[in-house]
Amino acid sequence: SKQSGKNKICFYEARYQAEFHRRVGIRNEIGSILKDSGFRLFYQPIYDAKTSKIVGTEALVRWPEKDPSYGPDEFIPIAEESRMIDGLGKWVITTAIKQLAKWQETNSLLTMSINISPVQLEHDDLLSCLSDAITAAKVAPESVVLEITETAFFKHSDKISDALHALSQHGFKIALDDFGMGFSSIAHLMDYPIDIVKLDKSMQIPSATGGRRQQVLAGLALMLRQLNFEIVAEGIETAAQQDNCIGLELDKLQGFLLARPMPASDLQTLLAAADE
Ligand code: C2E
Ligand code: CA
Ligand code: CA
Repeated sequence: SKQSGKNKICFYEARYQAEFHRRVGIRNEIGSILKDSGFRLFYQPIYDAKTSKIVGTEALVRWPEKDPSYGPDEFIPIAEESRMIDGLGKWVITTAIKQLAKWQETNSLLTMSINISPVQLEHDDLLSCLSDAITAAKVAPESVVLEITETAFFKHSDKISDALHALSQHGFKIALDDFGMGFSSIAHLMDYPIDIVKLDKSMQIPSATGGRRQQVLAGLALMLRQLNFEIVAEGIETAAQQDNCIGLELDKLQGFLLARPMPASDLQTLLAAADE
């Protein structure tokens, strides 16, 4: 009826308003949390597929004061919209690179992967922020992997392209994150200086029975290998998925089966045990 339609509209409006206020609240909070150093970095190990050794780690931001279910998937987009991402992004870069320096010194950890938002890529000071951080920490740019999601390329802006080329020329490694089945993904591989391809979680669907999906994945892996991309499979949750990735000769593995994201101290313990 007309009446219930109207109620529906009111309902949507109320929901929209609540969502808007929630976002503004979060946006305001991010600044003060940053000042009070209320964010934390967790680290998820990345394993060599052949040796099963930890060869790198990915830094993932956490906001511990919030409900643990409140992840970066929710607050990073809000930070991006509000330019808060600049401050947060810089904090992530300097913290992760300092930690990398420690682990390179005391353990045999090789690389640190850092998620970079498309918004950060468009800002001129990203390169100087990264350069300053590696100079201060005395780490090689080749040991820093910048993970860029595909959505960064939707805009096709010269700025993003120039930024990626400059970062690559300085020696930083570029990973294309969340690489999926889309055709656009493949075009990006040709247009940008990409070193590493991270196969999205959605690609790890078990394929015990083989089938078309498995054939596509195998073909994709073959193509990527021939083009000399390093291939990382993320979101490995089962032994079957792991075996499949090893069978496809992917280079590196990451996922809950192997290790969840963890505080630096926990990864320190893992690394020390592995080095013994
Ligand atoms: P991402 O870069 O694709 O990171 C992988 C996400 O998958 C992480 O979620 C990780 O905890 C989760 N994950 C790892 N292994 C598995 C698995 O086996 N199964 C499943 N289901 N999930 C797994 P998280 O930490 O909640 O991060 C979500 C997203 O937030 C990240 O996705 C990334 O896009 C963004 N993000 C996280 N930290 C940062 C940051 O410092 N800066 C920026 N710009 N974005 C970040
Ligand atoms: Ca990532
Ligand atoms: Ca990913």
